[in-house]
Amino acid sequence: MGKDSPRHLKGTPRQSFRKLRELSVVEGVLGFLLPAVFLFSGTAHGLRDVLPDAFLVRVALYTIIAVAIYCIFYIPFFLYKNILLPRPSGQSVHPCKGLLIDQLKILGLGTGAAVLLVVAVYSLMSLFAATWWLWAGLFIAALSFFLTKTTPSLILPLFVETHRLPDASLTGRLKDLGRRAGVRIDGVFSTGEKGRTFLTGITLLGTGNSQRIVLDPEVMRKCTPEEIESVVAHEMGHCRHSDILRIMLIQSCFIISAFFVTHLVLIKLSAPLGFSGLADIANLPLVILTMEACFFLVSPLLRAYNRHLETAADIFALRLTANPAAFITAITKLTGNNRDEAPPTRWEEWFFFDHLPLCKRTAMAKLFVKNEGIFAVDNPGLIAGTN
Ligand SMILES: [Zn+2]
Repeated sequence: MGKDSPRHLKGTPRQSFRKLRELSVVEGVLGFLLPAVFLFSGTAHGLRDVLPDAFLVRVALYTIIAVAIYCIFYIPFFLYKNILLPRPSGQSVHPCKGLLIDQLKILGLGTGAAVLLVVAVYSLMSLFAATWWLWAGLFIAALSFFLTKTTPSLILPLFVETHRLPDASLTGRLKDLGRRAGVRIDGVFSTGEKGRTFLTGITLLGTGNSQRIVLDPEVMRKCTPEEIESVVAHEMGHCRHSDILRIMLIQSCFIISAFFVTHLVLIKLSAPLGFSGLADIANLPLVILTMEACFFLVSPLLRAYNRHLETAADIFALRLTANPAAFITAITKLTGNNRDEAPPTRWEEWFFFDHLPLCKRTAMAKLFVKNEGIFAVDNPGLIAGTN
């Protein structure tokens, strides 16, 4: 599942995790400050007034300028996170032409998507003043469903090159694992140098129970075949539980609800803040602020649900492989060798963790050994210390 795929399994030392968390707090605060300053300084209104009157052109240009301003403020964060922050090896990633080209492609696609979304939402506001929030939510749900289905075949090839894994033994093991899990494996692939920033760790690409497995070469260097099986089994758990569909449904309900709250806020504040109506593009910063506030309030619930799905996938993997020792060493290696990671505070877990923290995942695997009666004969120490 996406949460485990690219970013979540990327090894990062503890210090970097802490820094990333601190950085995301700063980014979050800036995410509120930026639209607030834009709104209350009068810039939002001034920008609207200098743009052409034609509705669609004005909305599209306003969005492009807003994206450009956002990028200017976030470039330092991007550089810090992707270039300056140490990697597990302790080295920095040096800026290279490939990274720059990838980012330009993302910027192009992201701007196009933002223009499409904002134009659609404001068109719906002007057409259906009372019910736009419902239609806009359904539109985004349909778009996200379409993108989920088409991204592996249409968008990822722009960034990632894959080739079939030459290791026939590992391919055979993973296909056999798929048969036992009830997931059809269409092939086992490895990423080349192009795309390593996008598909790190282990990713399953496909729809329903028909999947391609993509392995980052770094995973194959770090992990044993048994450990790779454990992580692939976890991803297969997500497929069998239809977790992407569940997440999409939850997110769609959230977006519709947040748009409804935005609708109420716009009705209340449009006149006092000098907007000409719901579909006045100058209110875009207010829309962003309201959506962000809704997300901030609901994110602990969304993350808790995500942790529930991740835990279910962990249990699926433990049952399928019956090798908790490999599971523990795999997640330890792939989340940065943090055996001594201090448990996060409760609020850190609420706001930052889509998976259980490593210490809890490890404890759960040990508990699983006890409860399910699976004893790793070669690893008697696994049971020791289990409460
Ligand atoms: Zn997962």
